[in-house]
Amino acid sequence: MAQTLDWSSRADLLGAAAAVAMLASFAMLGLLRVRAHAEPGVRLRRQFSAALALATGLLSSQFILLSGQALPASAAFGIPTLLAAFALAAVAGLAVQPLATQTSPVRRWGVAGASSAALCGASLLALQSLAVEPRVTWHAAPIGVAFVLGTLGIGAVLAPSFVAGAGRQRSTLAALLLGVTLAVVNVELLRAAELAAGAAADPNAANLIGSEALTILALLGGPAVLALLLLAAVIEDRFSGLLANAREEAERAAYTDPLTRLPNRLMFEERLRRAASRADRADQSLALLFINLDGLKGINEHFGQHIGDALLRVVGKRLSAQCTEREVLARAGGDEFLLLIGANPDPEAAAARAGVLLADLARPCRIEERELAISASIGIAMYPEHGALSRLIPHAAAALSAAKHQGGATHCFFDASMLGGKRDEMELLRDLRLASERGELELFYQPKIHAPSGEITGVEALMRWNHAQRGTVSPEVFIPLAERYGLIHAIGNWLIDESCRQIRAWRNQGLRMRVAINLSVHQLRQPDLARRIGAALQRNRLDAQVLTCEITETVATDDSHDAHGVIDELAALGVHLSIDDFGTGYSNLGRLRKLPAEELKIDRGLVLDLATSDDAHAIVDAVVKLAHALGLKVVAEGVETETQQQLLRALGCHELQGYLFAKPMSARALAQWAMKQEGPRALDFRASLFGETRAVELT
Ligand code: C2E
Ligand code: CA
Ligand code: CA
Repeated sequence: MAQTLDWSSRADLLGAAAAVAMLASFAMLGLLRVRAHAEPGVRLRRQFSAALALATGLLSSQFILLSGQALPASAAFGIPTLLAAFALAAVAGLAVQPLATQTSPVRRWGVAGASSAALCGASLLALQSLAVEPRVTWHAAPIGVAFVLGTLGIGAVLAPSFVAGAGRQRSTLAALLLGVTLAVVNVELLRAAELAAGAAADPNAANLIGSEALTILALLGGPAVLALLLLAAVIEDRFSGLLANAREEAERAAYTDPLTRLPNRLMFEERLRRAASRADRADQSLALLFINLDGLKGINEHFGQHIGDALLRVVGKRLSAQCTEREVLARAGGDEFLLLIGANPDPEAAAARAGVLLADLARPCRIEERELAISASIGIAMYPEHGALSRLIPHAAAALSAAKHQGGATHCFFDASMLGGKRDEMELLRDLRLASERGELELFYQPKIHAPSGEITGVEALMRWNHAQRGTVSPEVFIPLAERYGLIHAIGNWLIDESCRQIRAWRNQGLRMRVAINLSVHQLRQPDLARRIGAALQRNRLDAQVLTCEITETVATDDSHDAHGVIDELAALGVHLSIDDFGTGYSNLGRLRKLPAEELKIDRGLVLDLATSDDAHAIVDAVVKLAHALGLKVVAEGVETETQQQLLRALGCHELQGYLFAKPMSARALAQWAMKQEGPRALDFRASLFGETRAVELT
């Protein structure tokens, strides 16, 4: 064919072939320009479409050129070979794609060469599909030239700097150059093919397509396919561009706090995750500050929500003004802010930051002509010292609540004891330490009733803790806590002093009241307990007889216990001893006999079951008999019903105590009742309770 070619007369064909090749290049490069965040499926589809565009362009341009050649009459092309050529061109199209991101020059030119070889091969195969006798023969030199030009063109055009992220002008230039390269390669390959002078259509060939049909396909079909591919790419880009913008906007909204324009908690958590994995790799630490305003609620209630919102904006601004690039500040919601310090801080540095932030936040704010004074509290959790990443925010929050409980306007580091129930217990314990100082402890008094006469003979002192926030805390909650954490001594000493002081105060009012106090096991281990009680009595000019010490059965009768020395000392002092909660333990009778006690208190549980359980009845009966045998007085506590009262009287109990008669009450209420007969029931106070001089009767 080379001999018959006269390019000057077929400039139209050359132009058309080049145009189709350029269109293909445009389409290919356009299809390869995929958005960075495109899904893998989309990316793959675009890559295949790009390969298809290149193959279509290459073969279309080749057959357009070929249509200008003088071919034997009724020459046709073998379809299978054509398809193979198309497939090979498509493979070249796929092979060419990594070039756009290949920065190593050796690899780049290697890939360019391979692609060029595949493209040349595809074009040659297309020409080879011409079914003529004898077959087309080939000249090596033009093939070599085509290969080299193809390699150079592809390598140059598909350089990363040229394609990836290039502007419109550059990519247009790239498309033009690639188109020219394809056209030139095709022209060279056409020159390499030689058709024998007498060649004629091969009569044996099957599966053919006529040369006219192929020309029409190349001229119309090829460009149509390319135009469609290009159009699809453009539409998809437009559409996904709009979509991406919308998504970005939505994401921005989802990740920012609308009030302060700071990142929100979601975004913060994302940044925290990333910072933590960086810190893990570098073996560094992070500090998380949970910042909370003290008293925003009050400001909202007092001045209105809009002032509160304005205040939050000011706080957001102040905090972000204090932040460096390596810190992430977010509003977690409400009046809570989160600050992540990423610069490998140690606890001292984190504490120093917290101090600076607190000082800055404490400056008064001017909002709508109002000067607002605020303060904040900060909880700090260090990563990784203070636990796993997922627990970091909760731990900082726990530290924050500890800071709040210290009165706010301060910072606090996380501590494992702040967790869960433990945390509550620790808060309670801390408050308990201050309770007696703050005057939050109080003694309530529950009368004991002389069973035969129904007169009040004395009272039991029961401790109450009037907690500022929690209200009255039960001694069953705080006494065990005090015992466990060594506060019982201090509290017990307060109890001794307070009960003696109260006895004296009543006496001064003319009320001679006997008082029973409860002593805990731990107090009984205090070697100076008896001395302390003696001193308190003396200070208040009281006879030891006015005081009864209630000691639980388990402690009093446990032989292994080192409390006995103290019990004996108490007896020697002259105070009465009462064995509390009797009937719950397994008393050592021998020990019980030797105890210097005068009173047994039947446990509330037994009294509760008395009317309904024969066993309970039998036990109470036995206890009363035992007490009588040992010469002890019997007191039943927890009497709530008339039935219980009657049964206990019938069984021979000396004294009764319970809600049926009176609940524990304040010292004032008790005095009022005794002196003015204003009380829960019309009960008489035993005459001996009045007046200083008369001795106290026991039964
Ligand atoms: P306890 O020594 O057995 O005290 C009797 C408890 O039963 C008191 O509870 C009292 O309020 C309650 N009670 C009295 N009558 C009735 C009744 O009719 N029905 C019912 N359901 N309950 C009744 P409280 O004051 O809550 O004290 C609980 C426990 O705390 C006391 O049990 C005692 O073991 C301990 N406790 C209280 N004050 C002190 C104290 O000053 N020092 C020590 N070490 N322990 C104390
Ligand atoms: Ca008691
Ligand atoms: Ca009891």
